[in-house]
Amino acid sequence: MRTPPRALLTGLAAGAGAVGLLWLVQAAPSFRLDALFATFAHLTGLLAAYGILVMLLLMARVPAIEHGVGADRLACWHSLGGRHVLTLCLAHAALALCAAAAHGGTDLLGAAVGLLGYPGLAAAATGTAVLAAVGATSARAVRRRVRHETWRAAHLLTYLGAALAFAHQLSGPDLAGGLLAAWLWTMLHTTVGVLLVWYRLVVPVRQALRHSLRITEVRTEGPDVVSVVVQGLGLDALRAEPGQFFRWRFLDRRLWRTSLPFSLSAPPRNDTLRITVKACGDHTRRIRRLRPGVRVLATGPFGALTAHRRTRRKVLLLAGGVGITPMRALFETLPGAPGDLTLLYRAGDAAQLVLRDELEAIAAARGAALHYLLGPSDAPFDPLAPRALRHLVPDLPEHDVYLCGPPGMTRSATAALRRAGVPGSRIHAEHFTF
Ligand SMILES: Cc1cc2nc3c(=O)[nH]c(=O)nc-3n(C[C@H](O)[C@H](O)[C@H](O)COP(=O)(O)OP(=O)(O)OC[C@H]3O[C@@H](n4cnc5c(N)ncnc54)[C@H](O)[C@@H]3O)c2cc1C
Repeated sequence: MRTPPRALLTGLAAGAGAVGLLWLVQAAPSFRLDALFATFAHLTGLLAAYGILVMLLLMARVPAIEHGVGADRLACWHSLGGRHVLTLCLAHAALALCAAAAHGGTDLLGAAVGLLGYPGLAAAATGTAVLAAVGATSARAVRRRVRHETWRAAHLLTYLGAALAFAHQLSGPDLAGGLLAAWLWTMLHTTVGVLLVWYRLVVPVRQALRHSLRITEVRTEGPDVVSVVVQGLGLDALRAEPGQFFRWRFLDRRLWRTSLPFSLSAPPRNDTLRITVKACGDHTRRIRRLRPGVRVLATGPFGALTAHRRTRRKVLLLAGGVGITPMRALFETLPGAPGDLTLLYRAGDAAQLVLRDELEAIAAARGAALHYLLGPSDAPFDPLAPRALRHLVPDLPEHDVYLCGPPGMTRSATAALRRAGVPGSRIHAEHFTF
């Protein structure tokens, strides 16, 4: 089962509507200043609580959502939504404070001290501070300076913030008195909690025990690029599809602490999986030095860049740099007659092309078109300009386009494809950054 992005957004919006309705039912009409502050504190509090739950659900790695929406899009929604949720939390706190100050005729500091005596409010204040701290580490300017592992470790605190917020919701005034609302709220939280534990903890452990993955080969593919072949038991059960990725943890002295996302660069076969990795940082450089026999934990599969997205007979695969990896797997496996498939592979120069022999063999065997678009990205001639694309693929608007490459290339290629007549709904892109 795959949840399409629109269905998920509709469901989430309906949930927000239900929360608004709950507020409306509970709101007591009054034009007194303290009551007005209190009622909007109530609304922002309910929406913030719902938002926290949605943020957790988006990151729970539920296969139906991951395979339907795509991990990169989920991460993007999570990052955008997280900012709004944090704003709601802070607005809720500020409005509640104003309500208490207006009600008691005190200043804000006096109101804050008074509020801390209420049940669950110390937990709420701590939870909000934790969420604000996590939000701060995710701000773009900070994120660029912080190591991925540090950022992830800080993100684990979100669970603590969410638990404290939940304690406040149950004991605070927002749900108090509404038995049905409190029961439903608890059920929703329990469901999301179970999904998180199941898909982020139980499933990875079960996969590790069941498949016993080990490296069988590390092969140099080009400058700074290696393929790692991994073998295990019963890999069919993973039901991994070309175009998808796993999170890989290599149990080597220098790599076991981190799990990194890499797409399959070949379709799974004979109980082997293959990834192709470009060295671009500390961890990917260490992968080049891995040796056969090293144990591997792979969690997945994730991602929605699969054959299921296809709506047309003709398909254009457009790869930039190491973005060739999922395209290579799709080039071999997407169903199609001769002439249906075209692969455009953008690289700085011929030396940077990887998996070239395989691509050429697949193109010859399938009667598919394969073009290399070489040259620096700042060269005067842009091979991804709309006219150039239409020259290479004359019936381009009749195609579905699968696209994977560096962020700059993905952005400009998407714009060029749109200008060349491909509707946005038929451009299926995957970003190699979360
Ligand atoms: C869905 C997906 C599929 C990918 N497939 C491939 C592939 O097939 N081949 C390939 O060479 N690269 C692929 N990448 C990119 C690859 O995961 C990163 O290049 C790698 O994680 C960088 O690790 P590093 O520590 O060497 O580099 P660093 O210098 O530490 O990081 C470089 C960049 O990678 C990001 N990154 C680092 N660690 C992680 C992590 N654990 N999870 C997510 N992002 C991280 C950082 O945000 C940073 O922007 C893929 C990425 C994603 C998200």
